[in-house]
Amino acid sequence: MDSVSAIMAAVRAQRGRIEALFTGLAQCGRTQPGFTRPSYSPEETEAHAVVARCASDLGLANGRDAAANTAMTLPGRDRTLPPILIGSHLDTVAQGGNFDGAAGVVAGLAAVAAIRALGLEPERDITVMGIRAEESVWFQVSYIGSRAALGALPDGALDAARIDTGLSLAAHIAWEGGDPDALRRGPPALDAAAIHAFLEVHIEQAPSLEEAGIPVGLCTGIPGNVRYPDVRIAGRYDHVGTPRRFRRDAAMAGAEIALALDRVWAEREAAGCPMAVTFGRFHTDAAAHGLTTVAGEFRFSLDMRAYAAGVLA
Ligand SMILES: [Zn+2]
Repeated sequence: MDSVSAIMAAVRAQRGRIEALFTGLAQCGRTQPGFTRPSYSPEETEAHAVVARCASDLGLANGRDAAANTAMTLPGRDRTLPPILIGSHLDTVAQGGNFDGAAGVVAGLAAVAAIRALGLEPERDITVMGIRAEESVWFQVSYIGSRAALGALPDGALDAARIDTGLSLAAHIAWEGGDPDALRRGPPALDAAAIHAFLEVHIEQAPSLEEAGIPVGLCTGIPGNVRYPDVRIAGRYDHVGTPRRFRRDAAMAGAEIALALDRVWAEREAAGCPMAVTFGRFHTDAAAHGLTTVAGEFRFSLDMRAYAAGVLA
């Protein structure tokens, strides 16, 4: 058997272990519909325990940093070399999917299990990471677990309140086994310069791969974004009888901006330059609007994302 076939066979042989992992994760934060494992919740912690048990079965060394991220390490031949990290997050949005994030942690464990089964010793450490709190919805801060590990949390993040409990990130971290004081003090658990490579398998959040009929894609970039959470257009309230030339209609102005940006998007995409424009909120003032009222005010949120800084600008 050639080496590619041997590797494929060793990965396929992990099927039972992987199914058991997903079944175990499906016990954590089951809701109707979907799964709810809030950032720094007992449900998220239970998911970390599920993957850590699998790692122990594989003989990996289990570690946990001050942010309560789980690190599961297959030691390499030369332990002084910067490690390869593989992993993703185990929290979910409310009523999210069991595979989002978790698939990346499970994929890392499957890869390491296959390496073990093949009797290979990697050149350097391979660490599978279960990362905390990637979803920004809970604390309104994104990538908390990885940024905390790298010492890159934004100022004040540890005092941010979780949207459902109203309690601070620091308190939630402490309850789930982390050490917020150590995060404040430093030094960080990870040094970006001392990581050989970071690999993450993630479920695609769109049907592009399915449309293309291919099982997996390689990301060549991550878009940056510009966000305006609350844009207000000021016009003038008037009665429906007001002729067009006298109007300062804020709703029409909102529509004009939306359609103009949609045209920019279509043009860029046609030129082979992916970007996205999203109006998450788009509305007149519910307290003042009505069937016979020209809108004097219009509000929207705007998220624009693209891969090139020039396109964003
Ligand atoms: Zn995700």
